[in-house]
Amino acid sequence: MIHAILTIDDIASENTPAIVDYLNERGIPALMFAVGENVEKYYDNAVYALRKGMIAGNHSYSHPHFSELTLDAAKAEIEKNELVLEKLYKDAGVERVYRPFRFPFGDKGGQNRAALQHYFREKGFHKLRDDQITYGFWKEQGLDRDIDTYWTFDFCEYHIRPDSDFTKKDVMKRIEDRAPEQGAALLEDGGSHILLFHAHDETDAMVPGYYRIFLDYLLEKGVVFDAPVFW
Ligand SMILES: [Zn+2]
Repeated sequence: MIHAILTIDDIASENTPAIVDYLNERGIPALMFAVGENVEKYYDNAVYALRKGMIAGNHSYSHPHFSELTLDAAKAEIEKNELVLEKLYKDAGVERVYRPFRFPFGDKGGQNRAALQHYFREKGFHKLRDDQITYGFWKEQGLDRDIDTYWTFDFCEYHIRPDSDFTKKDVMKRIEDRAPEQGAALLEDGGSHILLFHAHDETDAMVPGYYRIFLDYLLEKGVVFDAPVFW
């Protein structure tokens, strides 16, 4: 058996409602990470996601590289998005129970890394339960102690762009890769994963319904999608 928690970054987008409908149709739970600017741009779509049962975590207001920010600027990015998300939950009429965080680009803030983890603890951000993850690198890199939500497998589907050679086939290769250089092999029996995926209209323009193609393939391979549980 292969277990996975699906995370979908960068909502909201034009295709957010279609992704939400697809997930609900398949019974795939997901944890979404919202960028404040994107929520403001596609507000109704973000409201839709919450009303249809999705959790929206904080993915910063403007998606910067946190290692390029001062500690104060980093906190401001997070807090500005907290205000957007508070209003969003209120407008959606949904209670905000969990407040997970994901760093844009997985950039944990460079020299501010420890200070930001301290900040998350202090402010009561929620850690996605990860004691089911047994890969060596998870502990070696201290990911088991961090509050923010990292991942064990990255589809890299956001590399499918008009000016790139990266295609649908390359995503499939990553899914099938039994010995990846980074992260853990997705289709290895007995694995437990946190999957990194995105709600990007640019990807939809290149591969229409990409989420359906890649996630249906995982279902076909017997991947069990678990609901996110928080500490
Ligand atoms: Zn992102």
